Amino acid sequence: MRAFGVRNSTPGVKDIVLLGATGSIGTQTLDVVRRCLPNAKVRALTGYGNVSKLTELVNEFKPDMVCVKDEKTADDLKKSLVPDFGTSLRIVTGDEGLIACAAEEHSAVVVNALVGRAGLAPTLAAIRAGKHVALANKESLVTAGALIMGEAREKGVRIMPIDSEHSAIWQCLQGNEGNEIEKIILTASGGPFRTWPSAKINKATAEDALKHPNWHMGPKITIDSATLMNKGLEYIEALHLFNVKPEQIEIVIHPQSIIHSMVQFTDGSVMAQMGLPDMRLPILYALTAPHRVKTDFPRLDLLKHKTLTFRKPNEKKFPCLAIAKEAAAIGGTAPAVMNAVNEWAVGRFLSGRIRFTDIAAIISRALKEYTVKPLKCAEDVWEAEKWAGELVEACQL
Ligand code: NAD
Ligand code: MG
Repeated sequence: MRAFGVRNSTPGVKDIVLLGATGSIGTQTLDVVRRCLPNAKVRALTGYGNVSKLTELVNEFKPDMVCVKDEKTADDLKKSLVPDFGTSLRIVTGDEGLIACAAEEHSAVVVNALVGRAGLAPTLAAIRAGKHVALANKESLVTAGALIMGEAREKGVRIMPIDSEHSAIWQCLQGNEGNEIEKIILTASGGPFRTWPSAKINKATAEDALKHPNWHMGPKITIDSATLMNKGLEYIEALHLFNVKPEQIEIVIHPQSIIHSMVQFTDGSVMAQMGLPDMRLPILYALTAPHRVKTDFPRLDLLKHKTLTFRKPNEKKFPCLAIAKEAAAIGGTAPAVMNAVNEWAVGRFLSGRIRFTDIAAIISRALKEYTVKPLKCAEDVWEAEKWAGELVEACQL
């Protein structure tokens, strides 16, 4: 068991870098900064192509550095910024720009709210620059968890989970230093197709899959929640963050998303972390732990919710969960291939090029055809992703 909190942290006083500021987690992180952390300074933020949103954010938070996807977007951003501010701002671009932001000199904490494979290199860059990482980008841990945790240990920096389940587990572990975990109980909403029969799921459209019952999230994680790949990714994330064995993780469908996850200790006692489904809570906790900061966020009223239910996930109906467990058991670069193929397949499903059920089928096929390699460095991940990209191209989906 490890303690994750930022040592000697004073709540509300922190220089932060925010990667993925224009997305769902990014926007909620800025809301947390705005409402709860008046002394925090956003030193750098990154978007991608959304110039109007970035312009608003840059004008409000006045960072020293901002990263966009390319030179053209950088020019557009310069033109749309108020004249007196645009001159003092350093605008960087592309993957190198993301890395420069991750290593920005004044920041103590990097919030990684990027989606997908783009998150790994900046996570490693932040760690190598000695920053604590508040990590929403679960794909970093899925593809290179052992490298990330190893480098973080060497550098003496913390990986503070933002994913609500892992934040819940972390919170349950506070004050339990030295007590052994018997089991982690990872809860899952079950997604929009939880009650759909398989025949109907076969015909599910992107519009159907984007209607998550409890959370408003970016499109990729929303589809991952519908396939249950999200829970598979979180299973791998938990293995790395909490250093537990696969048999110590139980996944339970809990459609109300009120219990965000649980820890069972060796005396049989179970700790649960509860709250309304609001990502601002785990974001705030990642930035202030072990302290708690007063908020005006809506409160949980158990008398309104009344019923909390739990059941076993159906891995036949949602094969991505079993696929992720298998990739984790294979180890090495298998999770990187699974993750990359999933990301491409989700993109193709969202653009209407493949069926919902093709997502699991193509990941399964990729893992069968792939010769797994040991994971020694980040380059092994890039190589695995290159192989995955070529496979997806060859499928002409
Ligand atoms: P999102 O799609 O809403 O936002 C992603 C951000 O990354 C945007 O700012 C986008 O501009 C940027 N981005 C995308 N591709 C990029 C690239 N190639 N290079 C640089 N920037 C790029 O995603 P999200 O829902 O905020 O999710 C972010 C991460 O947090 C994911 O890993 C997700 O699994 C995890 N997460 C999200 C939630 C949630 O409620 N949204 C909950 C738990 C975990
Ligand atoms: Mg989650």
